[in-house]
Amino acid sequence: MDYEGFFAGEIAGLRREGRYRVFADLERKAGSFPQARNYGEVGGSEVTVWCSNDYLGMGQHPDVVAAMHEALERSGAGAGGTRNISGTNHTHVLLERELADLHGKPAALLFTSGYVSNWAALGTLAARLPDCLVLSDAENHASMIEGIRHSRADKRIFKHNDPEDLARLLEAADPGRAKLVAFESVYSMDGDIAPIAELCEVAEAHGAMTYLDEVHAVGLYGARGGGIAEREGVMDRVTVIEGTLGKAFGVLGGYIAASQALVDFVRSFASGFIFTTALPPAIAAGALTSVRHLKASQEERTRHQERAATLKRRLGEAGLPVMASESHIVPVLVGDPVLCKRVTDALMARHGIYVQPINYPTVARGTERLRLTPSPLHSDEDMDRLIAALSEIWAEFGLKRAA
Ligand SMILES: *Cc1c(COP(=O)(O)O)cnc(C)c1O
Repeated sequence: MDYEGFFAGEIAGLRREGRYRVFADLERKAGSFPQARNYGEVGGSEVTVWCSNDYLGMGQHPDVVAAMHEALERSGAGAGGTRNISGTNHTHVLLERELADLHGKPAALLFTSGYVSNWAALGTLAARLPDCLVLSDAENHASMIEGIRHSRADKRIFKHNDPEDLARLLEAADPGRAKLVAFESVYSMDGDIAPIAELCEVAEAHGAMTYLDEVHAVGLYGARGGGIAEREGVMDRVTVIEGTLGKAFGVLGGYIAASQALVDFVRSFASGFIFTTALPPAIAAGALTSVRHLKASQEERTRHQERAATLKRRLGEAGLPVMASESHIVPVLVGDPVLCKRVTDALMARHGIYVQPINYPTVARGTERLRLTPSPLHSDEDMDRLIAALSEIWAEFGLKRAA
């Protein structure tokens, strides 16, 4: 076997399709988000980031940064062990209490990332519930799909955000068997939002548990940042709420919030929770401060929604093909992977604007797009520059305009 030849051949295939991933070599600058230094250019250059998942700029919030400094001085760099063997720091305990309270649940459990929380929690629940059938939304994130696959449980895919299709699949299932319905609230590439109450109603009618990924909603929606389920007053109807500390909260980590018994069960059986070093205390302290801040403050959420609405409106007025989105996510359709990359290369090289192209398999072929994430810290001038640059590139490349 020519191993090296095999690897190189696979990569060449990605390049031919125009979906080889190139990372932007950036240095974020605390205090001037969304500006960053781009080391990809000779001598470095300043860029405005338009695709960060640090949706509110909490990653540079002075209170969050101060809490991390303080915890670092107090407790040192690492946690020193797995949660079971010396790694549980008091900050982890406080953070879990805070997250349980955020979602109105009795308990919460931290993981090293949102990916790991989905993989480990879904993997454990679906594997260990007797004869479990998993009902999974067609657009679920890779971390949920991998967790479900790892469980080896029976799985049916229901049509995206479609309670009727879910009902049809549940009706066909043995009423006596364990069932777990897994879906997201805000879908991160289209920006559409699940009908949580309707999906819960169908699940309840068939005795199924529900598992809701609120990764793109926590911190951003609801009076205290509890997500879409909080906004819609349905947190109590969802069995498990999963979230991240790495996006709107600006730090790192993932979690689930649920009943005491369910959380204790995952804590006790999930390999991906048990056999890994706990998050550093400084990370937990930063996340704790961020969660507490966004529980009390509406300012960031209000400005965030205004910025997203303004950007959508202005793109539309400029004739750019902004896709329908019910959330803060602003996708702009290109529809071709090679062009998508050329657009983003031109934005970076000529305009100092950084947007990562979104290609297959993250989105379906033919729907390649720019995914813009305006934050409360993007100014009107940042928007002026973005729209002028896009308009110029759209004309130059002869790209399709909005109907
Ligand atoms: C990003 C993402 C995750 C993973 O969260 P991380 O904390 O980044 O690991 C899980 N679910 C969805 C829908 C995501 O977009």
